[in-house]
Amino acid sequence: MSSVIGGGKTINIFDLQELARSKKNVISMGLGDPDLPTPAHIVAAAKAAIDEGRTGPAPTRGLLELRQAISDKLQRDNGILADPETEILVTTGGQEALFLLIQALIEPGDEVIVPDPRYTSYDEAINVAGGQMVLVPTDEAHAFDLDPVEVEKRITPKSKVLLLISPNNPTAGIVSPDNARQLARLAIEHNLIVISDEIYEKFLYDGATQISIASLPGMRERTITLNGASKTYAMTGWRIGYLAGPPEFISIAAALKDMVNVQAPTVSQWAAVAALTGPQDCVEQMRQTYAERRALLMSALDDMGFSYGTPHGALYIWANTSSTGIEATQLSYLFLDKAGVLIFPGTGFGDNWGNYMRMTLLQPKEVLEQAVERMRSALADYRAGLV
Ligand code: PLP
Repeated sequence: MSSVIGGGKTINIFDLQELARSKKNVISMGLGDPDLPTPAHIVAAAKAAIDEGRTGPAPTRGLLELRQAISDKLQRDNGILADPETEILVTTGGQEALFLLIQALIEPGDEVIVPDPRYTSYDEAINVAGGQMVLVPTDEAHAFDLDPVEVEKRITPKSKVLLLISPNNPTAGIVSPDNARQLARLAIEHNLIVISDEIYEKFLYDGATQISIASLPGMRERTITLNGASKTYAMTGWRIGYLAGPPEFISIAAALKDMVNVQAPTVSQWAAVAALTGPQDCVEQMRQTYAERRALLMSALDDMGFSYGTPHGALYIWANTSSTGIEATQLSYLFLDKAGVLIFPGTGFGDNWGNYMRMTLLQPKEVLEQAVERMRSALADYRAGLV
C-alpha cells in the first residue's frame, strides 16, 4: 500500500511510518504483513532447492510445477478451472500481479468500478494506465459487503472492469455469496471484466463463507483471479503471487512481466510449490491465531466505545472512531505520539474515511493487550485535557 503517485491525503501513511521509525518501543499495528513465521516445511523446501542447485532461471509464466500446483489448488479450493500452460501467471508478489493486470486491461478513459474504502495500490495502478476509478461506497451497517444495486447505478458505457477484494483490505468485509451471484449477473449483462482479489481467502471467521466469482456459470471467461502466498502462508518477503484467467489477458500480463523482471524468484517458486502441495493444517493454525487476536481487539474496541462492521475475514479491523470526536489522522498521530502505537488512519484508504482506522491482527496477543492499554490511557488523558 502506498500513495506516491496518487498523492492526496493518503500520503500521511508514509509520514506516520517515518515518525514511528524514529521512536523507541512502538507497537506496530500498521502494515498488513503477517508476523507469523513461514511454516518450517516451506522453508525446508527452499533450502533443498538451494542445496540441489535448483536456482536457475524459470519461465516468465513460472515453473510449470508451480503453475500445476496453482491449477490444482484453484480447482480443489475454489472450483475454478485454469490451464497451467495458458491461464496462469506467477508474479513477484500480489502487488506485481495487480499492477500488471491493470496495465494489461485498462486503456486511457476506461472506467474501473472500485469498492470504497480500498487498497489504494489499485488507485495507483489505475492512474498509471490512464483509467478512471468509479467508487462504490460500502458501509458499516452492511459489514462492508458490496451492494449490487449500488454497483449497477454506476455502470456506464465506459465501464470495463469491476474490482472485487474479498475478504477486503481495509474493511475485513466479504462479498456475500448472494451478492457475488448478482454481481456476476451484472458483469455478464454489461460485459464487464471482473478482477477478484482473493489474497485473504483463507482467513474467514465465525463461520463466514464466500465463493470465488470465477467459479460461477459464464464467469470463467471474464474473470481474473488474483492470489498469492504472502498472506496464506506468511510469505510476504518471498514475493510469490499469481493471476489466473483467460489466456488473452494472461499473455499480455506475461509479456509485461517479461519486460519488468523476467520471472518470480526461482527459490521462492519452489517454496510456493511446497506451500500449495504440502500439509495445510499450518494455515488453519494461523487462522485460529488471528481469530483469537481478533476477538481480543473486538472486545477492547467495544470497551472503548468504537464501533466496526463485523470483520468477517482478512487480518484487520476497520474501526469507527467517531465516538472519540477526533479526526482519524489526528487520532493516529495521538496514538503514535502518546501511546507508542502505530495505526493507519482511514484516510490512507480513501479520502472519505476520516472517521475510521485500520487495526491489524499482526502482533502476539500479549502485545495487542499492551497496545490497547496504552491507547485507552492516551484517550483518557486526551479527554481529561492532559495531552
Ligand atoms: N491485494 C491486497 C488486497 C492486499 O492487501 C495486498 C497486500 O497487502 C496485495 C494484494 C499484495 O500482496 P503481496 O504482499 O503478495 O504483494
